[in-house]
Amino acid sequence: MIDLKDLHMSYPVEQSRVAVLQDVNLAIQAGESVAVVGPSGSGKTTLLLLLAGLDHPDSGTIEIQGVVLNERSADDLADLRRDRMGIVFQSFHLIPSLTALGNVTLPLEIAGDPEATAKAREILQRVGLAHRESHYPMQLSGGEQQRVAIARALVHAPPLILADEPTGNLDKATGSGVSDLLFDLHDNLGSTLVLVTHDSALAARCDRQLRLDGGCLVEA
Ligand code: ADP
Ligand code: MG
Repeated sequence: MIDLKDLHMSYPVEQSRVAVLQDVNLAIQAGESVAVVGPSGSGKTTLLLLLAGLDHPDSGTIEIQGVVLNERSADDLADLRRDRMGIVFQSFHLIPSLTALGNVTLPLEIAGDPEATAKAREILQRVGLAHRESHYPMQLSGGEQQRVAIARALVHAPPLILADEPTGNLDKATGSGVSDLLFDLHDNLGSTLVLVTHDSALAARCDRQLRLDGGCLVEA
């Protein structure tokens, strides 16, 4: 599903560059769940952005389901994300002018799915938000917004789920509900799950745990 070879990534800081990922190699099989842990600033979000094709490495290759991202145009990468990935960002990224239902329906509408609304309603029900479908993001609690974001990421049953600290902003009870939901959907869809988290209990639920430290990725 995922194959990373000799990945290097740095960011420009003042006149020089600061290395964030150094010689990262990783293979993830289809259907696996993998936790990425590591201290704040260790490059976890950077790694997810690279996997999503939202940023480009200095060198090395990123292959997702046989597609080498480095060789693709921005349009191709957007298509790849739409068709094959569900991305849960740390800060939700819901569209404020759309209701919960509108946010979840949008990716299906963009893909031209004639059953967009029915599918969006079904997944909102599964995340326990059927009664909030006509609420706007600002009318929802943090936990509810996070569940809408997860519903939106998973509504098209993507083969690959990328989640960046999906419980990071939530209280304990809401967080454990959200992680149950994520694993439930991962199990039901047979999707590959790459989960960045600070939460060791959540990491322990994954098949594998990887640690980013000093720019290197190692099995934890
Ligand atoms: P994590 O998600 O593990 O907390 P990040 O991947 O967000 O870490 O960041 C890794 C390092 O790269 C940090 O030191 C951060 O300050 C730096 N960084 C992240 N994004 C940028 C950017 N766009 N420009 C410059 N530095 C960045
Ligand atoms: Mg981060």
